[in-house]
Amino acid sequence: MRNSNVLLIHGGAGTWDRRALKKALRSLEMIAEKSYQVLEKHTPLKAVLYALSLLEDDPNFNAGRGSNLNLFGEIEVDASIMVGETKNAGAVASVKKVKFASHLAHKVMENTPHILLTGWTANFLAKKEGLVVDEKELVTERRYRLWRKGIEYILGEMGEGPLSDDQKRMRDYLKTKMKKIIDFVTKNEEVVKMIRNKLSDSGNTVGVVAYKDGKIVAGASTGGILLKLPGRIGDTPIIGSGTYADDSLGGVSATGFGESIMVSNLSLRIAISISLEKDIRDSVAKTFNSLDPKPEAGVIAINKLGESVIAHTTKNLPAARVINGEVEIKDSWLKV
Ligand code: ASP
Repeated sequence: MRNSNVLLIHGGAGTWDRRALKKALRSLEMIAEKSYQVLEKHTPLKAVLYALSLLEDDPNFNAGRGSNLNLFGEIEVDASIMVGETKNAGAVASVKKVKFASHLAHKVMENTPHILLTGWTANFLAKKEGLVVDEKELVTERRYRLWRKGIEYILGEMGEGPLSDDQKRMRDYLKTKMKKIIDFVTKNEEVVKMIRNKLSDSGNTVGVVAYKDGKIVAGASTGGILLKLPGRIGDTPIIGSGTYADDSLGGVSATGFGESIMVSNLSLRIAISISLEKDIRDSVAKTFNSLDPKPEAGVIAINKLGESVIAHTTKNLPAARVINGEVEIKDSWLKV
């Protein structure tokens, strides 16, 4: 039987800290319930934007307020949105001082001839739409602590440091070491990955896919991976990698280590596979298992019949699924 309304919301693939996971599941439940009401009354686009804005405003997730900090302690966010009926899409990458990056992505879709913007025009558009906030509004205590631990670890490995507690002096110090730090993290990718794992913080990005009477919309928003190089752009704003929607195939939002998602164009591949195979779970598992290397990732996906799947290779993928009003919340789904 064709489902009429389906809403999938995730809080990021990765290895979650137990306490953070509990809080995230509670938020997901509340956000799923509220957003489902919007889906019932309005379009799937409205429901996706509404859910993303609640997630971006919630400090438990790595998007908007609560975003990860880059190597030098700044927040740069990525987001995207795609409408399956028209194949219209909008995205922004590496923008600063924006909480609701998904809304900025929507504005790119509606008000510009382009799909993905960064730099000057993205900033201009953010100002014009009243989406610019003070960076302090985005940095949470928890993310700051994780970043500080991470950068201290890196400096320790480099034989540098210690860091001052005064934020201005600390930033000035980091600036003087910028070249050396970039050189170190570039040559020691595994050390940085190990630090991220140690801090139990490889994810927490957010994504939403909504389905209503055959119409599908997908979107995602993220602060990216902790300690990323400034200017690094992940899979989230890349149509086909982090997000994809086509009413004749399905809608997908991906999460996880962006570099591994981008090289496999994961969202587009999953969208194609769920349109071809009979069993949606099998098709997603087969797609993941056919990839070499297998991405450290998770997806939420809905096909053209309204059938859905949530799958991941990571330990956790906290997510909510609402089918015709029935809510299901879990931190682990189909392991592939
Ligand atoms: N995919 C995001 C990125 O690489 C991170 C995540 O999903 O947690 O920027």
